This record gives sequence, structure tokens and C-alpha cells, in this order.
Amino acid sequence: MKKAAWILGDQLSLNNSALRVLDKATDIVVMTESLEHARELSHHKHKLMLCFSAMRHFKQELEQQGYSVCYSQLDENKNFLDSLNSIVRKHGVSELIVMQPNESATVKFVETLSENLGIGVAQSKNTMFLTDRDEFVKKHRGKSHLVMENYYRQMRKTHNVLMTKDGKPVGGEWNLDKENRRTAKAFKQSKLTPPKRPAPTRDRIDSDVAEMVEKFFPNHIGSTKTFWLPTTRKDADLCFDDFIATRLKDFGDYEDVMIADELVLFHSAISPLLNIGLLDVMTLARKAEHAYYNGDAPLNSVEGFIRQIIGWREFIYGCYWTKSADTDYHQENFFGNTRKLPDFFWTGKTNMRCVSSAISKVIEHGYTHHIERLMVIGNFALLAGILPNEINRWFWEFYADAYDWVVTPNVMGMSQFADGGFVATKPYAASANYIDKMSDYCHGCAYDKTLKTGETACPFNYLYWDFFLRNSDKLRKNNRIGMAYVTLDKKTTAEQDAIRQSAHSFLANLNPNDYY
Ligand SMILES: Cc1cc2nc3c(=O)[nH]c(=O)nc-3n(C[C@H](O)[C@H](O)[C@H](O)COP(=O)(O)OP(=O)(O)OC[C@H]3O[C@@H](n4cnc5c(N)ncnc54)[C@H](O)[C@@H]3O)c2cc1C
Ligand code: SF4
Repeated sequence: MKKAAWILGDQLSLNNSALRVLDKATDIVVMTESLEHARELSHHKHKLMLCFSAMRHFKQELEQQGYSVCYSQLDENKNFLDSLNSIVRKHGVSELIVMQPNESATVKFVETLSENLGIGVAQSKNTMFLTDRDEFVKKHRGKSHLVMENYYRQMRKTHNVLMTKDGKPVGGEWNLDKENRRTAKAFKQSKLTPPKRPAPTRDRIDSDVAEMVEKFFPNHIGSTKTFWLPTTRKDADLCFDDFIATRLKDFGDYEDVMIADELVLFHSAISPLLNIGLLDVMTLARKAEHAYYNGDAPLNSVEGFIRQIIGWREFIYGCYWTKSADTDYHQENFFGNTRKLPDFFWTGKTNMRCVSSAISKVIEHGYTHHIERLMVIGNFALLAGILPNEINRWFWEFYADAYDWVVTPNVMGMSQFADGGFVATKPYAASANYIDKMSDYCHGCAYDKTLKTGETACPFNYLYWDFFLRNSDKLRKNNRIGMAYVTLDKKTTAEQDAIRQSAHSFLANLNPNDYY
């Protein structure tokens, strides 16, 4: 009885549990690129390059480990089913093993395979996350709101990360986020220069894939010429080790700062690699922990980073599966928004300097750090009343690290509050005040950050209040945002009218009459 392990393109880990059941002498590994799947969305070219190149490099890695790999390239087949079918027939495979896919559409597809291929198909345990998603769903299903902090503490205890011998958090506190809010001004005064990241090695596989991406996806966003991500496990490790050695120490202090000329600052830029299995979450957490114990990075940075990877990331994964158990997350729309995304989301051409710069970074690199996603791009879409599924799709297509399980809860939940507060306790809405404090964007912007209404006023200022005015029935009772309504209620009717008027004329000119 010949077995085959089908390795999915976002599960390129040597710990992939499907590999464990193989007998290297007789069984095979199957890897397939699919044009049909790759064209389901208009993915950024960097994401396509990363996935296909990392898959092809992983094939080599598996062969070096003694596996026989049957690899079907994109130009040889149209879709997964066709290539699986021909490999199964050609090699006489009688059982296919797939590691539990990371996202729900792939699970549904795998569930149809046994019937379609006429052989046994088994799913092995997902080893890319620390979270057992079935347990998570069982525990949280039916709740209207989940709390990341609780889950994070549980993860620290379960995996003994940054814990003292007597079960207390190292340093006495679980969460040092309040220390991690230094401003853009503080960053400039520090005279720090974010270190250059090591350039990944490139080989024939990378150049072949670049050519293929330009051939099959010529109109997708981005350019293969500016591709910057590692495509091998070795380079991914080097990239992370470089982060630990040169940037982790300042990660905490400047985590929320946005600088027009800086892409990564002191962030790790590992999400595209982690999300396809080139890096392993627990290894990263241990390396960060050791940096603290060795005195190479302060606790606020190390705890902050560890909270992101074993707290937020795992929590988001659990939220995705919990929500997906009962609803289609993509269709959530708490505020009932109907507006289409303006055209400048595809070009970056807008006079709002913060939005223009953040979108241009994504177009060029398929990446921005968290605060530009949440407090600039996401914030704008939230305040402008964009249809949540439309902005979700945009993030999914434009970011090199975007996969349904992670992009959807972050966009629909954390950023757009479209799930009514399942992931976030309150909408992340902010005016120019916040953006000015945390970035250098407002200086040199065509709009005036200090003006509240009128043609030259910063749109974030009146859109912010208009958002609270038009959603009063849904938000007023949320005690996390009560203060916004205290301030709003103090505004005169004339002031409120001016806000509505400015918001109305700005939004009417975005894409005139473009509603669903
Ligand atoms: C609107 C919006 C969309 C997002 N879309 C994605 C996405 O498509 N893919 C994605 O991986 N992350 C997404 N995130 C989460 C987060 O912004 C990115 O993981 C992070 O910016 C990646 O950059 P980094 O590797 O430099 O992260 P760092 O700041 O260095 O953080 C380290 C790691 O922590 C993890 N992490 C931190 N926050 C989150 C989070 N909220 N959810 C999941 N993982 C987290 C990531 O793996 C990240 O690599 C999104 C956040 C928002 C607000
Ligand atoms: S003034 Fe407003 S639009 Fe311009 S950069 Fe600042 S926040 Fe953005």
C-alpha cells in the first residue's frame, strides 16, 4: 500500500505531520502548484514569488532528507485535482495524507478528495500552530467576545515562556505594552538608524519563478524586480537571527512608530516566512527569550515580541476557526457599510500623505508594519465606511503574508469591527492627533492636521467624528468608547453639522456614486 503526503504551499515545514507517516523507501511526497488556485485572487507578485520559490526550494530540502518528491509545476497543470489525479494514478498511490490545512476553504477541498480521487484521504494534526484549534473552538464557540490577554497568559504558562520557577511572569508583569508607546518625535531624538537587513541569496529557482510570475500574472500588483524576501529556510533563519541581534532591543520602544522613509523599522518582517512554515513559532519564541536572559534585549521588547507571536498570532488563528464554525466571516458587516474602495488603493495617489505612503509601501513591498495596517489604512477604511469584505479582499491581495486565517480576523475583526467586537473590544478609530504623534507623515501633508472641518482640514479629523455620529446607536453603549460620546455631545449642533458636511463632501468625491 503506497502512501503519499501532499504538502500544501503554506505548510513548508520539516515538522509537517503528514511526513511522519511516510516510509521513505516506498512512499512519496506530492507537491503541486496550481494556476487555478493562484488566480482565485489577484495576489501581490511578491507573495506569488515567495510561495512558488519556497515550495521549489522545499522540494530540494526534502530530497536532501531522503524523500522521493513528485512535484508538479504551474505550467504543467491547471488545478490541484488534475495534478493529484495524475500523480496518484502514475504512482499507484492508495492513501493520501494531508496536514490539516490552515484555512477553511482548503479543508473543504480536502474533504472532497477521497471521493474525487477514489482513494483514502486522511488529515494529520496541524503542527504549524501551538493552538489545538478544535479545543479552542470547543471552549470559545458561542461567545460574543474573546480576550487575547487571557489566552496569551495561558500560552505563557502552558509553554513556560518568560516564566519564573514559581509560575509568575518574569519581571512581575504579564504585559509591558504601556512601555511600548514611544512617539515618532522620541524616535527622531534618539538618532537611531534602523539597521539594514541582510540581503537574501538568490539562485536559478528564484529567477525561474520570477519569470513565471511575470508570464502568468503580469497584471498583478507589485514587481518581481523589487522582491526582497528570503525563499529558503536557511535565509529565513538568518533573517530572524539578524532581527534578534540588531533590532529586537529597540522593537518594544518604537513598535508603534511610523516613518515615511522606513519600511520595517525595528519590526521582524517574518510574517510572510512564518505563515508558510519556513520558520517555527516556538523556536522564535525561545530565541527571543534567550536574548533577554543573555542581556541582549530588554524585557519590554522581548515580552512585546513574544506576545505578538504566541499571543496575538495564536489567538487570531483560534478566532478564525471559532467564527468560521458558525458563520462566513467575510460577510460580517456590523455597521452596514456599503462604500466601495476608492481607486487610490490601487495607486497610492491621494493627497493624504499617510495613506499614500502606506499604500505605496504595500504596492512596492507587499508589506507594512502593524500600525500602518491598523491605524492608517484600516483606520481610513473604517472611518470612510468601506464595505468590510472589500477592504478584507484588498489586504488579502496586497500583502505577502496574507492568508484567510490571519487576514480575515485581523481586518474584519480587529480593524473594521465588522464582527461587532468578537476580536476587538472597541473599533480602532483615530484622528490626525494619533497619526501625528506616532509618525512623521503630517509634516509636509497637503492637509492641515490642526483643522477640524473644511476643505483643507485633515480628513481623518472630520471622518473620525462623523464615524461616531453615524454609528451612535451601535457604539454609544460600549463603555470602552464612552468618552468619545462625552466629547461629541459637547459639540454644538452647528459644529456637528460642519463635521457631517465636510465628511459628506469628502466621501462624495472619493469615487462618486460608487456604492454597492
Ligand atoms: C488590518 C490588518 C491586517 C493584517 N493582516 C495580516 C496578514 O495578512 N498576515 C499576517 O501575518 N498578519 C497580519 N496582520 C497582523 C500584523 O500586522 C502582522 O503580522 C505584522 O505586521 C507582520 O509584520 P512583522 O513580521 O514585522 O511583525 P512584528 O511586529 O515583528 O511581529 C512579530 C510577529 O507577530 C505576529 N503577529 C503580530 N500581530 C499579529 C496579529 N494581529 N495577527 C497575527 N499575527 C500577528 C506575526 O507573525 C509577526 O510576524 C494584520 C493586522 C492588521 C491590523
Ligand atoms: S494631516 Fe491627516 S491626512 Fe495628512 S498625514 Fe496627517 S493624518 Fe494623514
